[in-house]
This record gives sequence, C-alpha cells and structure tokens, in this order.
Amino acid sequence: MTSFACRSCGCSEGHVFLDLGLQPLANNLLKPEDLGQPEPRFPLRVAVCHRCHLLQITDIVPPVDLFSDYLYFSSFSDALLRHAATACESHRQRCGLDASSLVVEIASNDGYLLRNFVAAGIPCLGIEPAANIARVAAEKGIPTLNRFFDVALARELAAQGRSADLILGNNVFAHVPDTNGFVAGLAALLKPTGRIALEFPYAGDLIDHVEFDTVYHEHVFYFTILALEPLFARHGLELIDVERLAIHGGSLRIHAAHRGAHPVSPSVGNLLAEEKARGMDQSGWYDRFGDRVRRIREDLLSLVKRLRSEGKSIAAYGASAKGSTLLNYYGLGRESLDFVADRSTAKQGRLTPGTHLPIVPAEDLAARRPDYALLLTWNFAEEILRQQQAYRDLGGRFIVPLPEVRIL
Ligand code: ZN
Repeated sequence: MTSFACRSCGCSEGHVFLDLGLQPLANNLLKPEDLGQPEPRFPLRVAVCHRCHLLQITDIVPPVDLFSDYLYFSSFSDALLRHAATACESHRQRCGLDASSLVVEIASNDGYLLRNFVAAGIPCLGIEPAANIARVAAEKGIPTLNRFFDVALARELAAQGRSADLILGNNVFAHVPDTNGFVAGLAALLKPTGRIALEFPYAGDLIDHVEFDTVYHEHVFYFTILALEPLFARHGLELIDVERLAIHGGSLRIHAAHRGAHPVSPSVGNLLAEEKARGMDQSGWYDRFGDRVRRIREDLLSLVKRLRSEGKSIAAYGASAKGSTLLNYYGLGRESLDFVADRSTAKQGRLTPGTHLPIVPAEDLAARRPDYALLLTWNFAEEILRQQQAYRDLGGRFIVPLPEVRIL
C-alpha cells in the first residue's frame, strides 16, 4: 500500500488484507428528510502492521463526527444487561471493591453496566462522549461526565483525587484512533494497585468465524494479545489476565495493571503462544480470511437472487452497525429487502446508512410477514429467535448470513 503508519508502533509497513469498499458511517441512521443530502462515504480497509501485528483500518473518520449523537442505547438488549450484571459481580470479587473504592467506566453509554455498581453501593463515574446518552445515564442516577476520555482528562481526574481502583471499558478501546493516548490515559488515571478491565471483540474469533461485519469505521482496531503486549508495555502497564467471552461473536476481557503491581496469570502467555502457533504474526494468515469473506458474500447474494426470482419477499432484522457493513459491502438495498425491523425506538422511522432501508418496529415482522428475514444481528440470534417466535410460527424464516449462510 502507498502510505501506512501503524497507530501503535509507528511502523511504516503494513499489509491490507480486507477491502470492504466505500462505506457510509455505520451508525449514521438517516432521517427521511436527509435523503436529498449528500451522504459521505469513506474507504473501509483493514491492514496488519508488519512490526507489531496490530490490525487496523487504514482510513480514520474523526471521532466527533462519529459519536456526538450516537444512537446505540445498550439497555435495549436483554443479553447485554445480563452480561453487565454478571461482569459487575465478577469485578467486585476480583478487585475487592467497597464503599471506599472508585470505579470509572470509559464510554459508559446509558449506565447499563455502572448501575450494577451503584446498586451495590460502590462509588462510580461514567465518562460518555455522546451528550444525549450521557443525559439519559445522569437521569437514571449514574454519575456521568459528558467528555471524551484522553490523557488530559485522566490527569485532571487524578489531580482531583479521583484516581480509579478499577477502570472499565467495554467496546470502546478499539474505537479510539489515538491508542497510545488512550493507554497513557489509563495509566494516568489508575491507582498504583488498581486494575483495568477492557472488553472488545477478539480478532482471532473475528477471523475464525468470518465476522467481517464487525469491521466499520468506529472500530479502528482488531486486537490480538500479540499486538497488545507492546502497546501496554510502552506505557508502563502489563496484561495480568485474559478471559475469552462469547459475547459479540467472541470477545476478550483483558485485565491490566501497572507493571509488577499484580501477579500475571498463565492465561496471558497461553493465548500469546496460541496466536504465534496459529501464524497470527504472519501476513499470509490474514489473506486467507479475505478470500473466505468474498466467498460467503457470493453465497448470500445467490440465495437472495434465487428467492427474489421465486417471488419471495425478504426483510431484515437488526439495524445495527454490523448490518450496515454487510448490506453496503453486499450491495443489498431496497430492490432486494423491504425493510429492517428493530426493537430500538430511537432507530425506528429512520433509514439505514447507504442502503436506505426503512427501519420499523420489531413487531412488524409478524405483522407484515415477509417470507424471509435476514438476521443482521446474528450475535444475538438466540434472543431474537425467541422474541420473534410469533413470526416464525406464521411461517417466517430467518437467514443467518455468517459464518456460513443458513436458513432457520
Ligand atoms: Zn505496529
């Protein structure tokens, strides 16, 4: 490629292994009156750094454009709420938190995770850049700062005596282009014996399960332990434990601390050794993933073509960011799909980015009864299939697009 500068180590050599074309911003749901306006599109490509092996998108969109009026309200998913309650309990036990502790969550959304700490009497602080979402959290009684997290804010909080015993970040670490600034901020905000716990989709799972739709402009990075170790070490931190989670198609929860502050679990070295044994430090390993993505795209497009030629109607379920990547990369718009059903009232009445499918209430699936519904939020398949039993009882069938095209 022509120009590359790794956002972690600065290396100028990288290798693009996935090109999803020009894509609109995946969370930028349009209002009907926006249709006449130009819709910006940006190249969506993923490269691997030759030196530190960090996977990263090559074209960054400024975060202010992305997050100022974010429509993702976490509390709309039951699975996510259960995950948050379990995570809170696990952190309390691991860190021995009490009324004298401080838990800080970066990108705390509507407070769906922190409310568990509030209920347990543990002081906490959410940092949420989207003004509308920070307001919702504050109204629910979750102390929330409407700010972007960076090293300046971390130092400001530390200077006010608000250093953290536990810093949480769920699905935010991979979103911040200045990854060195983010990790430096963690180090600055953390008490000497504090702990950091970050969750993000694991690049190993993404590739194994061909979850290419996890790639969108907000997700700047796709992390491996291989790439994380040098990044944390650069800021005086080290990984002390790693857990593999099933959520979001396979995620990691990494635990980190100041170097030497806590013992290091064998889990870290084990996963690192596994990554090396698999060849995740070789560019060629990633090229095979690109080939599989293209084949699966062909499979779904031929199925849609066949069903439409048989006169079947097809809708979609889940107006998610991953759905936007998939629809735009596949070129599936109004000529193939009638609408997208979604439970989030904030999304209903809007249109999907790039493909402009109308977003309607989840109940419309049973009411309008398309023959097939393409399940864009396959990561919550079990929950959605249960919620949509009425549609299925009426003969409606779900098409699951990944990791292989299946009809349920
Ligand atoms: Zn690098």
